[in-house]
Amino acid sequence: MNDLVMTGGTVVLPDGAVNADVVVNGERITDVVDPGAGCGERVIDAAGKIVLPGGVDPHVHLLVGFMGQRSVYDFESGGIAALRGGTTSIVDFALQRRGGSMMAGLKHRRKQADPVVTVDYGLHLIATDVNDDSLGELAALRAEGVTSLKVYTVYEEDGLKLEDGQLHRLMTQAAKDDLMVVLHAENAGIVEYLRAEAVAKGHTDPIWHARTRPPIVEIEAVSRAIQFSRDTGCGVHILHLVASGALPLVQAARRDGLAVTAETCTHFLALTEDALLREDGHNFILSPPLRDADNQAQLWAALTSGVLSAVTSDEVSYSAAAKAMGLPSFADVANGCPGIEARLPVLYTLGVDQGRLSLEQFAHLTATWPADIFGLKNKGRIAKGYDADLTILDPETRHVMSPDSDYGDIGYNPYSGIELTATVDTTVLRGAVVMERGAFKGHAGQGRFVKRTTAQRPDLP
Ligand SMILES: [Zn+2]
Repeated sequence: MNDLVMTGGTVVLPDGAVNADVVVNGERITDVVDPGAGCGERVIDAAGKIVLPGGVDPHVHLLVGFMGQRSVYDFESGGIAALRGGTTSIVDFALQRRGGSMMAGLKHRRKQADPVVTVDYGLHLIATDVNDDSLGELAALRAEGVTSLKVYTVYEEDGLKLEDGQLHRLMTQAAKDDLMVVLHAENAGIVEYLRAEAVAKGHTDPIWHARTRPPIVEIEAVSRAIQFSRDTGCGVHILHLVASGALPLVQAARRDGLAVTAETCTHFLALTEDALLREDGHNFILSPPLRDADNQAQLWAALTSGVLSAVTSDEVSYSAAAKAMGLPSFADVANGCPGIEARLPVLYTLGVDQGRLSLEQFAHLTATWPADIFGLKNKGRIAKGYDADLTILDPETRHVMSPDSDYGDIGYNPYSGIELTATVDTTVLRGAVVMERGAFKGHAGQGRFVKRTTAQRPDLP
């Protein structure tokens, strides 16, 4: 007798959706069989529902502070929010402090996460100080399952920014040690003078956040990253890409066979910069900024064409009160918005339900490709031998998003007012049913650190 069988659902396999039963034993998927052919000790009826690989969100910030604020979510509550949204694996960030070691940053972050984390997780290492000592640590990081280094090209005021020379040096060594770079790509010099100019003129409303970060800020930094990748051979993944002018650069780089990939985020697909003009516009301050509807249409086209390889949340759960503390100036508002729980339902609603994405593309963008690119080897696919991380989506329910939609008490929801055309019914993590209709059924510490391996980049179709 099998441990678990999920019967009668529309199962999204790597090459298409079929009616099938998914058979689970222990922590693994052991078979995918014809509908009705599976049996098990526990049976989950998925008739009329969609069975997806558990979401993989490779861009999440839990338990963070920034500009004096703290996030609502830690690794326990944020993991529960992820599971409620159908996501079973995340990649968060460990921080190298300036003057400190990368390994110390990794150990510190694992100490925060391991005892309480409720989803499986990996860590990118934020590199803030490139020197002989830290470069000497890359091979050891790789052995610990940290295969990606996060680099900021902005935020010098927070001790995060790397100069071009440091970035080039880091990428040269990372290529040798089989690590990649994930990049926050913005041109700091342009942002700094435009922001100073705006603030000096008294232009401090939230919309000026977008006006002081025009597309060239992002396009130039993406271009630079691609040139560095070409020169060093180091893989680069562009985080939160929004400026459509950067898309042809990514496409050309991939056509040239460079190890370059890019993602966009849920909020860029659901919202435009008009949100910054609202009374609560400061809640939509994030970087790079929201852009206009034409730009958004090109992001959707890049998802369909495969130029973009992932949709991530860039989850940051600063509360409404924390966001408001930065007022009256946009320049002082904590950047970021929550999205770990909304990612799958919002993308399903705007993507699949509105005919922009097939179910197969949806699974590629939310699970399969992020797992491949970031080396989560047993994740992201419904296939024999893979981890039994499964999400059942119910496409028959309706739910209008509101500030109360989230698991945590954040006080605002960037997607308020959007009517979701699907909700997450059940989430399974390595064979265990950990969430049913919003109720958490697992326990703190059930999540596991995932030692990641070499990147597998999807082909440009
Ligand atoms: Zn981020």
